[in-house]
Formats: sequence, C-alpha cells, structure tokens
Amino acid sequence: MQLVLVAGGAGFIGSHLCRSLLKDGYKVVCVDNLITGDKKNIEDLLVNPEFKFVEQDITKSVQSSKFIPIKSGQSLDYIFHLASPASPNKKSKRSYINHPVETLLVNSVGTFNLLELAKKENAKFLYASSSEIYGDPKVFPQNEEYFGNVNPNGIRSCYDEGKRFGEALTFAFIRKYKVNARVIRIFNTYGQNMHIDDGRVVSNFISQAVINKPITVYGDGSQTRSFCYIDDMIDGLKRSLFIDKTDKEVINLGNPIELTIIELAGLIKKMTASSSEIVFEKLPEDDPKRRRPDIAKAKRLLSWEPKVPIAQGLEKTIKYFKRVIEL
Ligand code: UDP
Repeated sequence: MQLVLVAGGAGFIGSHLCRSLLKDGYKVVCVDNLITGDKKNIEDLLVNPEFKFVEQDITKSVQSSKFIPIKSGQSLDYIFHLASPASPNKKSKRSYINHPVETLLVNSVGTFNLLELAKKENAKFLYASSSEIYGDPKVFPQNEEYFGNVNPNGIRSCYDEGKRFGEALTFAFIRKYKVNARVIRIFNTYGQNMHIDDGRVVSNFISQAVINKPITVYGDGSQTRSFCYIDDMIDGLKRSLFIDKTDKEVINLGNPIELTIIELAGLIKKMTASSSEIVFEKLPEDDPKRRRPDIAKAKRLLSWEPKVPIAQGLEKTIKYFKRVIEL
C-alpha cells in the first residue's frame, strides 16, 4: 500500500483530497497546524486505520519520526503540499491578510522542509501554487508561460510572493537535487468544507443569501473569476502527481468559464430563492480585475478538464452551507 503525505490536509481542498486518496486505496498522513484548516473537515476519517492526522506546523522541523508516523520499512511515496492560508479577505480571521508572516513562512520554510523530506525519502512532490502568482494579469486567459503582474509589497504580496518563492524553491530542488516535483497553479475553487467565515466570494455570497442578509459585492462587480468545483480540482491534482512525466512541469488547474462577480451574486441569489439585496462595498486593494485559466496544458498532459457545471456545483455547495448554518 502506497503512502501519501498531505500537508494542509484539514483544509478545504486538503480534506477532500485525503478522503479521495483513502477511497483509492492509499495510506494517508495528514499534517495541519489548524490555523485555517479545521478538524471537523476530517472528523469522519479519524477512525480509518489507514489515516493518520498529525497536528504540526511544517515550518518547524519535519525530520522527526513523529512527523511521518510510519512503520520501519514503509516508504513515503508521495507528498502534496497544500498547506497555506488562501483567502484574501481581511474581514476573515482565517485570511492570509491576517496571517501574512505565517503565509510567507509556510510557502518558504514549509516548502523547504517538505522538499528536503521528498529528497530524503525519494518521494514524488506536488507544490500547490496559485493563480495569484499572475497578480492582476495583463494577459487573457493566463497560460503557464505568463510571468504575471504582481505588486511585490502590496497587501496580497505575502501570498503572491510566498507562492512565487515556493515555485522557485521547488524548481531549485528539481534542478539541483533531481527531486521529482511539479508545480500546480490552482485557480478559484469552491465546494463543501469551505469555511463559512472563510471570506472568499462563494462562501460569503451563499452564507449571506441563505439567511437573507445583504450580498456584499466589492467594487461594481464587473471583475471576473472562473470557478472550479472541488471534485474536478481533486481529480486534476491526483492526475498531476500520479501520472508519469508530469515532473518538472507547471500546470494551471481551474475552470475556464469566466463569470463577473455580479453575475455570480445574481446566480446564487436565484438558486437560494433569497430575498437578500445586493449591496456594493469598496473594492479591496490590488484585487485582480480578470482571471481565467488557459488549461490547454492540463488537457494535453493530464487528459483533464472540469466536468461539473457551475449550477450543479453551487447546488451541492448551497446544500452544505444550509446544513452548517442550521447546526
Ligand atoms: N468579493 C466580493 N464580495 C465578497 C467577497 C469577495 O465581491 O464578499 C470579490 C473580491 O473582491 C474578488 C472576487 O470576489 O474580486 C473573488 O474574491 P475571493 O476572495 O473569492 O478570491 P480571489 O479570487 O480574489 O483570490
């Protein structure tokens, strides 16, 4: 049985990944320091003998045996590095804006520790980067060749530059130590297990709409994003690490269907049959105006593209939020 380490495994994407890997027959070690992740996301997995949760900060040394609770003779085969705050909303205590130093460290020191581990264990490594490395892009859609347009010391720089450093470090280990690694740039993703006070647009709009509170559109709502449902993202992430010849690659994963934020607000309002009014608030600093992935490379290398239409994904997400809010 192969062993997979998921750093950030109690977070939104990480928890879905752990569940899916267990279903596929892998042994999973989930590491999380829970600053933005939540143990509730993995509660049902804790009884599974093939699943181990370790509460640890990966910026601290990961060389101790406590870190990989494996029997002697068992090797570590794969590492997914998904550990990082990821919400830009300063109103959320879970956002990277409120954890700027932790965000920079988990993507630098944390990435270094995990790459050292991959080197030592000869494990295949996936670094979860982000569409944020493109900053406020001037190229549409964004393909992997584009270098981006990033403010190096703006309010979002802890995340953008953290991810850019993480990419550079991953490639340094590929070039210098021949570590089998790849960089995956995740675009906006949504679904169950997003935290209700995560602050990102889908969770905010749904949690506002289901209780008929005002839906807060920042700016005039003409900015765009492209939303990928979690099941599609998990499928893409697994292909990116488990398919041969994906090492040394940088691959965008996301849904290429672009929506304006005002369109998203209208759609969620309609789907929840909400009486919420749509209100307009100040656009946050350095908020990217347009974002849409070019996924030609993922199609070619992984035979992957998103399958879940936004209405179907939102329906499942709304159901989840209604359940959480009622509790
Ligand atoms: N946004 C909004 N209202 C909210 C939360 C976010 O209008 O309550 C906007 C935000 O300004 C951005 C877009 O929605 O233009 C996506 O924001 P999110 O926080 O989900 O992530 P981002 O894509 O900016 O990293």
